[in-house]
Amino acid sequence: MAEYDFDLFVIGAGSGGVRASRMAAGFGAKVAVAEELYLGGTCVNVGCVPKKLFAYAAHFAEDFSDARGYGWDLSGTVFNWQRLVENKNTEITRLNGIYHNLLSGAGVTLVQGRARLLDSHTVAVGDKTFSAERILLATGGWPFIPDFPGREHVISSNEVFYLEQLPKRCVVVGGGYIAIEFAGIFKGLGCQTSLLYRGEQFLRGFDQGIRDHMVVTLQNKGMDLQFNTDVTRVNKQADGSLQVHLKSGEMLETDLVLYATGRRPKLDGLGLENTAVKLDDKGFIEVNDEYQTTDPAIFAIGDVTDTVQLTPVALAEGMALARRLYAPDEYRPVDYNDLATAVFCIPNIATLGLTEEQARAQGHKLDIFESRFRPMRNTLAGNPEQSLMKLLVDQDSDRVLGVHMVGPDAGEIIQGLAVALKAGATKAVFDATLGIHPTAAEEFVTMRTPSRRD
Ligand code: FAD
Ligand code: NDP
Repeated sequence: MAEYDFDLFVIGAGSGGVRASRMAAGFGAKVAVAEELYLGGTCVNVGCVPKKLFAYAAHFAEDFSDARGYGWDLSGTVFNWQRLVENKNTEITRLNGIYHNLLSGAGVTLVQGRARLLDSHTVAVGDKTFSAERILLATGGWPFIPDFPGREHVISSNEVFYLEQLPKRCVVVGGGYIAIEFAGIFKGLGCQTSLLYRGEQFLRGFDQGIRDHMVVTLQNKGMDLQFNTDVTRVNKQADGSLQVHLKSGEMLETDLVLYATGRRPKLDGLGLENTAVKLDDKGFIEVNDEYQTTDPAIFAIGDVTDTVQLTPVALAEGMALARRLYAPDEYRPVDYNDLATAVFCIPNIATLGLTEEQARAQGHKLDIFESRFRPMRNTLAGNPEQSLMKLLVDQDSDRVLGVHMVGPDAGEIIQGLAVALKAGATKAVFDATLGIHPTAAEEFVTMRTPSRRD
């Protein structure tokens, strides 16, 4: 063993890399991790955490408005963007420190800088080189912005967290998680917001009922939704404002254009050409089902591979790999079934298991239980917004195959139900469960009559 400096050299201290490093070190391996930008990676610095803090900030606008019906007169509420960003930055710095302590506490050597592979067992960081029996690539992803004239005038999710001013008007391009979340954040904070999506309807891959419901909900909030459209060019005016030219020939004037058009694996300068690591046809690092690349000494997890791009997935893969390499008796493969996920727009979307379209494509005959209702909190508030809850039940087995929701705290509610689905819950089990009254969540255990049957 002494022939290498480390048992495991991890490149990238994001969700997956930190978890794999800590676990491997805990199992007795000698581990180093290299990080070029920030401890905690995308999630902590320019992803899940600051995004959720911004979403909380945006939510207050509706809370203030709803408060009137509950007897509160709030006058003179003023929003201060700079204070939000400063407080967010302080919180992220605190979390960076926690990550530092977690790694050093576990005995992991932290190497600051960009890592480059020199061969299958050697990594260079700055002017230092390190040898390792095994190398783990956990370099994550990076925002992708297509090429078009004026691309230099638009920003990605990396920059949105550090804007000096809150724009008055903003255009968000894309129809996935980041686009929907940030359109909601900007709208909530009072910006005049347009969302442009190239296809028929945003949120491709989500349950159709959820997608339809979101269109109505966001339009009712005053968001300008434009489908089947794309940007041809962006011009910057002398006063700093932007003109967004669309393929329809229309033009939008705005102060900010946020592109949220997906992410690509972060591979630049990584030195893969010095190893036997191959990419798959989508450009991700190719791995087998135990995260080994086509170079036997090199492994890869998280967003740099073609996996679901979510923090809990990267964490689970990091944990599974550490066990597989250094505690094989404890190894359990990651179960990607019945994955729960939330879009933290206002209101939340949360989704678990199969969509109606996926269930049908798999040949299931379905009982579909659907409930649309105005949450109790909205009554005195005079807020007409409706929640949607949807359960998909397999007629043959009575198994609940999918659970979908749009509504306040959907992420919190669906997380609990994810445990039930993992345990194989049937509709009979949902029916036998008593609700917590009065909650919105109890609706999931009180829907008795299918809205539709195959
Ligand atoms: P990352 O967390 O991206 O970590 C990779 C690390 O590697 C980075 O720190 C990078 O600097 C470093 N690195 C790269 N190359 C090198 C190199 N050559 N040398 C040294 N270091 C290097 N997921 C959720 O589950 N919930 C959410 O709410 C959510 N919100 C998101 C919001 C946004 C705006 C974005 C962009 C993503 C969000 N995600 C969310 C996705 C989640 O952040 C990612 O799936 C997760 O961070 C992936 O973890 P990872 O370890 O694969 O990569
Ligand atoms: P997504 O893959 O979710 O969405 C990308 C969107 O951009 C799609 O609507 C896609 O359209 C559109 N698009 C892609 N290429 C182009 C193009 N050339 N021109 C115009 N539109 C284009 O990516 P995001 O960037 O929103 O987020 C990246 C990932 O990060 C997510 O997939 C998710 O896994 C993770 N994430 C998770 C969050 C959460 O858990 N709450 C929050 C934020 C991110 P089409 O559908 O037609 O392909």
